[in-house]
Amino acid sequence: MKYDLIIIGGGPAGYLAAERASKGGLKTLLIEERYLGGVCLNEGCIPTKTLLYSAKILEGAKHGFKYGVEIKNITLNHKKVLERKDKVIKTLVTGIKSKLRKSGAEILSGHGEILGRSSKGYIVAVGDKEFATDRLLIATGSSPFVPPIEGVKEALERGFVLTNREILEIESVPASMVVIGGGIVGLEMASYFNSAGSKVTVIEMLDHIGGSMDREISNILLETYKKKGVEFELSARVTKIDDRKVVYEKDGKFFEKEAEKVLLSVGRRPNITGFGLENIGVELEKGCVKTDDRMKTNVQEVYAAGDINGKLMLAHTAYREAEVAVWNMLGRKVKINYNSIPSVVYTNPEVAWVGESEESAKEKALEYEVVKLPMLYSGRFVAENEDFDGLCKILIDRRKRTILGCHMIGNYSSEIIYGVGVMIESQLRVEDIKDIVFPHPTVSEIIREVIFEL
Ligand SMILES: Cc1cc2nc3c(=O)[nH]c(=O)nc-3n(C[C@H](O)[C@H](O)[C@H](O)COP(=O)(O)OP(=O)(O)OC[C@H]3O[C@@H](n4cnc5c(N)ncnc54)[C@H](O)[C@@H]3O)c2cc1C
Repeated sequence: MKYDLIIIGGGPAGYLAAERASKGGLKTLLIEERYLGGVCLNEGCIPTKTLLYSAKILEGAKHGFKYGVEIKNITLNHKKVLERKDKVIKTLVTGIKSKLRKSGAEILSGHGEILGRSSKGYIVAVGDKEFATDRLLIATGSSPFVPPIEGVKEALERGFVLTNREILEIESVPASMVVIGGGIVGLEMASYFNSAGSKVTVIEMLDHIGGSMDREISNILLETYKKKGVEFELSARVTKIDDRKVVYEKDGKFFEKEAEKVLLSVGRRPNITGFGLENIGVELEKGCVKTDDRMKTNVQEVYAAGDINGKLMLAHTAYREAEVAVWNMLGRKVKINYNSIPSVVYTNPEVAWVGESEESAKEKALEYEVVKLPMLYSGRFVAENEDFDGLCKILIDRRKRTILGCHMIGNYSSEIIYGVGVMIESQLRVEDIKDIVFPHPTVSEIIREVIFEL
């Protein structure tokens, strides 16, 4: 069977590309070896957000008295949370299957392997079947990184250490938990289990949490979670995992932390082996497939999108990269702009950002000006947030008067940040933004308030 496009991997990059390509007239085959929807739908974005929403309701109920709502005997039924999570996943996976069916793309279950190139095109095998294609899209995603810590493999085997995959299936809330890694995923899980009643300790190698998050905002998040009872060990490196404890080194001294469970959340590695990339000579760079700004690899008509290129490992980046790849296959010369892609941490409060941070702007020696306000300048924020000020911080290009970056902490940030992404992408100047009308009262008005500080 001959195709115009074969896609290997059915996560956000793969399934979106399949839909768009098929609608665009390409005869498309999508190959997925585990679950359609990939990490995002089955063990990433969606299940974690389902858990976090339950935690948010719980927190709302616990603190309802501050808003005049008094509820007694509040408990979290973790089993029910998991059941709901499975229902949400099922609904969404069914939706994707039906969208793909409608678009005309074919889906095949199994391990895709690139055998090489012949006169018929690229040859891909799934079991004993072989398919030929004019184009390939590599969308095999990523897997949890397991660092070379003494005892980690054994601890994973006996279920003391869990990755994000197993943590989403854990039947009961552990009394205590160590989270190794204070990045986005680690913080979100620390947030859920803290709300659910675990005694959580986050051990992070850097001197701050949140990875590339703006430092001022990451400090606010840190202090907020400390108040909620989460312990943080920063600038600390886990050296060993023992029977029921984690050993870590800080300032040249060794410490131990006992826990019922450990979540290993130290980043992810692209899936680059075991499916024949080397058979067609695809170039790699630091363990990732190397792509240009049109998602092309070094091999003609071979594209790559999603976590596999290691650029900004987020589902919406994967979506955009998939679209950019397909538009280029269809002859539209579209490029990706990573600078206007937002990042969100769904803790409570949420954190969201897009573009440059002060740290990255300094590193690039950009000429910028910072304007910031507490979220309390939004009427709706004050109405809905007792005991939390939040912050919205915008970086302006001094010469062009356009937005370089925006960083927010406070709920609804996740829903607001795309608007700033649009402003960055369309290079709106401060004066243009001042003419935009925001609905009142909304938390999004904070953007306008900050801009009017200029
Ligand atoms: C806990 C967690 C929470 C997250 N939360 C968010 C979030 O809130 N927002 C966000 O934007 N991102 C989030 N992410 C990141 C997001 O899940 C990924 O960026 C996204 O899934 C990447 O999509 P992808 O299509 O590149 O790869 P994946 O989703 O990894 O999909 C790749 C697919 O390829 C399949 N595959 C691999 N090799 C083969 C082969 N040889 N043959 C056939 N199939 C193959 C795999 O089985 C997999 O299904 C989260 C990640 C985790 C782990």
